Amino acid sequence: MKTLSPTQEPPVILIVDDDKITRLLLRRAMEKEGYKVLEVSNGEECLAIYQSQKPHIVLLDAMMPVMDGFTCCKQLQTLPGGDRTPVLIITALDDKESVDLAFEVGATDYITKPIHWPVLRQRVRRLLEQSQLYQQLEAANQELQRLVSSDGLTKIANRRRFDEYFDLEWRRMAREALPLSLILCDIDFFKAYNDTYGHIAGDGCLQQVANAISSNAKRPGDLAARYGGEEFAVILPNTQANGALYLAEKIRESVKKLEVAHAGSQICQYVTLSLGVASMVPQHNTSAATLIAAADKALYQAKEEGRDRVVLKLLNS
Ligand code: GH3
Ligand code: MG
Ligand code: MG
Repeated sequence: MKTLSPTQEPPVILIVDDDKITRLLLRRAMEKEGYKVLEVSNGEECLAIYQSQKPHIVLLDAMMPVMDGFTCCKQLQTLPGGDRTPVLIITALDDKESVDLAFEVGATDYITKPIHWPVLRQRVRRLLEQSQLYQQLEAANQELQRLVSSDGLTKIANRRRFDEYFDLEWRRMAREALPLSLILCDIDFFKAYNDTYGHIAGDGCLQQVANAISSNAKRPGDLAARYGGEEFAVILPNTQANGALYLAEKIRESVKKLEVAHAGSQICQYVTLSLGVASMVPQHNTSAATLIAAADKALYQAKEEGRDRVVLKLLNS
């Protein structure tokens, strides 16, 4: 059995029971284990204190005035984090219906009164350990998610995340009949940049450009991603063509304003971007690739027309 390290904050136990003596006995037993204890006397108070104090575990009596333990447990599941907090129901009720109901409303475990103290101690320890493991797993999953979705060099979203998000937003905008815009950006004469300054400086340039692009994509739904080697993409849900065009122009200016010296460029002394913008209201019977192809075509045209510029391709609507 793992013991708590002294540097860790002690787990917080919330005791919910209308009987003062039971609360006192539970408090003593829990404090003896080194836990911090909160106590309230009915379900309503439990829900209120749960939200402000976020206890690690709830020891819940079943029969209480104002709000009983079953109702309280059920409502607890709907609060943020509530379904992840172990609830141990401690009650004098030992009939089949009460036990079944307890688990139905989301209780994690059930013990009957009179309390068998060594059993309670072990159950609480085990539940705390389980919830701690669960939290670690969740944090590891989040970190993993972050790693698989972001580009190692530029730290913005990678191609995988782009594909996933683009597909998701395509379908969402189709459902809601709203416009979806896409900006594709490509660094001008980047091969020459690498040839002049070396690959490591090239990587640094990509980082600066990525930063400039992503700091322009500010709305919560916007996503800036590294699309390929020196190509970037910005997904703009619920954004009309003129809005996307405005943003693309801002991105172009921001990159130019970085004033990253580029002696190999045939058009400017600094690093510049060419951008292709496309916008449409997605249709369920049209492939999402249509929008990407249009933005790509616009980007190609921007290159053809002399680079360091934005070209817009309008589709339907
Ligand atoms: P254009 O103006 O037509 O876009 O010309 P360009 O030279 O930028 O285009 P091209 O596609 O010929 O060259 C892209 C270059 O980007 C070649 C490749 O070595 C470089 N590149 C791609 N990924 C990376 C990377 O991760 N780091 C560095 N340093 N260079 C990269
Ligand atoms: Mg390219
Ligand atoms: Mg290029």
